[in-house]
Amino acid sequence: MQSTRRRRRALVGGGATAALLASAAAAVAVGPFGTPDRSSELASQIDSSKPRNVILLIGDGTDEAIITAARNYELGAAGRFALDELPFVGDMTTYGLKVGPGPDYPIAYVSDSAPTASAWSTGHKTVDSRLSQGPSVSDSVPGEDYQTVLELAHQQGKRTGNVSTAEITDATPAAAASHINLRGCQGPTDMAACDYARKSRGGKGSVAEQLVDNDIDVILGGGAQRYAQRTDAGPTVLEYAQRTLGYRYVDTKAALAGVTSVRRGPVLGLFTTGNMTPRYQPLVAAVPPGAGGPTQKCQLADRGTQPSLAEMTDKAIELLDNKKGFFLQVESAMIDKQEHASDICGAIGDVVELDEALEVALEYQEDNPDTLIVVTADHSHSTQIVPNGSAGRATATLQTADGDPMSVAYSTAAPGGSQAHTGSTVRVAASGPQAANVTGLIDQTDLYWTLRGHKPSKPDYHGKPKWIKKRWWHHGHGHGGW
Ligand code: MG
Ligand code: ZN
Repeated sequence: MQSTRRRRRALVGGGATAALLASAAAAVAVGPFGTPDRSSELASQIDSSKPRNVILLIGDGTDEAIITAARNYELGAAGRFALDELPFVGDMTTYGLKVGPGPDYPIAYVSDSAPTASAWSTGHKTVDSRLSQGPSVSDSVPGEDYQTVLELAHQQGKRTGNVSTAEITDATPAAAASHINLRGCQGPTDMAACDYARKSRGGKGSVAEQLVDNDIDVILGGGAQRYAQRTDAGPTVLEYAQRTLGYRYVDTKAALAGVTSVRRGPVLGLFTTGNMTPRYQPLVAAVPPGAGGPTQKCQLADRGTQPSLAEMTDKAIELLDNKKGFFLQVESAMIDKQEHASDICGAIGDVVELDEALEVALEYQEDNPDTLIVVTADHSHSTQIVPNGSAGRATATLQTADGDPMSVAYSTAAPGGSQAHTGSTVRVAASGPQAANVTGLIDQTDLYWTLRGHKPSKPDYHGKPKWIKKRWWHHGHGHGGW
């Protein structure tokens, strides 16, 4: 697998790859002049054109700490994931709001996956548990529905896709194309707290119903149990999706591979009743001396007939590819869920799943350079990389690809309890048209505008200091994109 990633690096990015490879190897061998200046290389990758396709990859709870732990374990400290090599990188604030009388709502410094996904989906902040709907006076009072990027893309005649390793009705994929005040209202029989939204009461229905009512061309993930629930009208959501909306249903990797077009109807692939199986078997942190040890390795899990995230992403892109373009959201969901469980192997493995899905997207981008790819997270999480022998509340130790022991600790809950999200910013990285907009410190609501596609800008050489103009002229870069 490492070799797959390294091979990919050799294929993508041309000069960027060489420069990045050089910096990746810096710890081992720095040339006589150090790493090369990357200014012109980066400038040449600035492309202000509006993307035709957008692929948004989310690692739920995937902050720098878990990316670093995964990198250390899989590739060694000096290794690089594909997600480490995207040309434009920024930092993103993820805060949300708390309920209140408004119009100014108190800030929530730690958010769950509902308001965070709602922020990039709609450009609006909201409160915990709420999906693409604005804040309000209390959790039980619905806010204003806001249209999502996915819904806008659909209106523009683009194809749309929604892929997750969680239940597809879980908060991150739900926010892409449903509107409800409580994220728990996932299926038609989960609606006790969202009664107003039932279809029999004239509402938009549960998350499961709203996702298929939104004509999403490709829906892939877990959560078959929600689609087995009966709608208010009688049939199950799955029967409704198939009979009324024309969805084709698949439930195994092999059946998914057999789908080759969405011309005769959209595809709903649900590969397990609940959340999909993580790549690795769990290694759960424990009170010191902790779980694992200096020679501990993660073990692959048996995922039966479930496809990998990369396989789902590959199929989704194949099915969505068309002249008008598409919007695709892909979520590696179990990073977050395994961090809640203090499961370091589970979380690390699904960072690799995210990276392999990104590699699939980058391969498509090579042939379709009018594709914007963004990789980010919704919020940060509980895993910390700590000194070996740390007295943290719950710890685990693994042997990394360097052959050395790496220890992690979890301290947001008592050992055995559910670890909590944290409030730090998260990485946002991108490549392709308008990718430069993620650079610097942005907010999750800023990402919404980039996903929609900005009006292409023109450089204002005249307003810039003379030296910039001179430099650009000398190097002759940036004509295409600028
Ligand atoms: Mg999620
Ligand atoms: Zn979580």
